[in-house]
Amino acid sequence: MTHSHKSSPAPSSLAPLERWLTGPRIRGVPARDRAETPPMLSFEFFPPKNDALETQLWACIKRLEPLGPRFVSVTYGAGGTTQERTHATVARLASETSLVPAAHLTCVGTSRGEIDDVARRYWDVGVRHIVALRGDVPGGGDYEAHPDGYRYASDLVAGLRRVADFEISVAAYPEAHPTAASPADDIDHLKRKLDAGATRAITNFFFDSETYLRFLDRCLAAGISAPIVPGIMPVSNFAQAARFSAMSGIAVPEWLGHMFDGLENDAETRRMVSAVVTAEQVRLLQANGIDEFHFYTLNRPDLVYAIAHLLGVRPASDPQQAAVAAA
Ligand SMILES: Cc1cc2nc3c(=O)[nH]c(=O)nc-3n(C[C@H](O)[C@H](O)[C@H](O)COP(=O)(O)OP(=O)(O)OC[C@H]3O[C@@H](n4cnc5c(N)ncnc54)[C@H](O)[C@@H]3O)c2cc1C
Repeated sequence: MTHSHKSSPAPSSLAPLERWLTGPRIRGVPARDRAETPPMLSFEFFPPKNDALETQLWACIKRLEPLGPRFVSVTYGAGGTTQERTHATVARLASETSLVPAAHLTCVGTSRGEIDDVARRYWDVGVRHIVALRGDVPGGGDYEAHPDGYRYASDLVAGLRRVADFEISVAAYPEAHPTAASPADDIDHLKRKLDAGATRAITNFFFDSETYLRFLDRCLAAGISAPIVPGIMPVSNFAQAARFSAMSGIAVPEWLGHMFDGLENDAETRRMVSAVVTAEQVRLLQANGIDEFHFYTLNRPDLVYAIAHLLGVRPASDPQQAAVAAA
């Protein structure tokens, strides 16, 4: 976006048309060319804990599957509490869909041997991609490594490399992990995870795109060259997102709160506002050259589908998409 400020008299002394014409000029995010290669997407789901949520998850997967994501990942509950459900979901993705599944795996509260066994089980059912994480202590509190466990995600990455030839993604924090000694330290630890054998980082969600872009600058300056894929969360429950952001050290800009003010009891309008806010975010990132996006779907497909469409992603059966892919 480009801004050019003209020097002008105090706005209040001007008639409306003069005021509009003397204000800042914003060119806006350029429209995409049809022939451009669409971005690569990945989608994150959480494992369902009852039949109704299971039905919702599979409806979500079926809706998003035609968009041909590079991979879809399934989270692992704090402390491994969803181990069986995560495994069942990932195994079903591998056997019943055309999607490439990625299993999240954390080290907290588990010995190295147990984690290696979980990873081997994944390999045996055809899962080749792991999102390797340290995890948090269930219910909060200071992190302590299992006496026999992997201490940090970088140790888990190295361990997984010994188990099998997995593709490995790791987590990154544009606003620094809340317990990091410093942002620079956090980037050093991110580099350690990539050097240990991960090939991509996925960021925590963020609302200020500038923060993410500056983070990329600092990663590059620290010698990182792997993609740091932005994690995008379409926020439709603002109050909940603000609470979660506060716990995770993610800044919530005032303008964002203002956009959702007064909509606490109006879920339909909130969804529309969310679509606009998220669309602006991804289109701005796309205009800045970012061509990979990871979506936190929260097992709800509609906003993600719409935003993917805006980014130029079409179902694989779409002739235009097929022509671009073949070119
Ligand atoms: C994309 C994404 C997906 C996630 N999925 C899940 C999930 O499925 N389940 C779940 O429970 N949680 C998940 N999380 C949350 C994650 O587990 C927590 O944020 C956790 O607190 C940190 O995990 P990490 O892998 O980033 O840890 P690490 O990379 O190990 O870092 C943890 C902290 O230790 C510091 N550190 C790292 N290495 C060292 C070192 N050698 N010496 C000193 N300090 C060090 C880091 O700076 C950081 O402050 C996810 C987060 C993201 C961004």
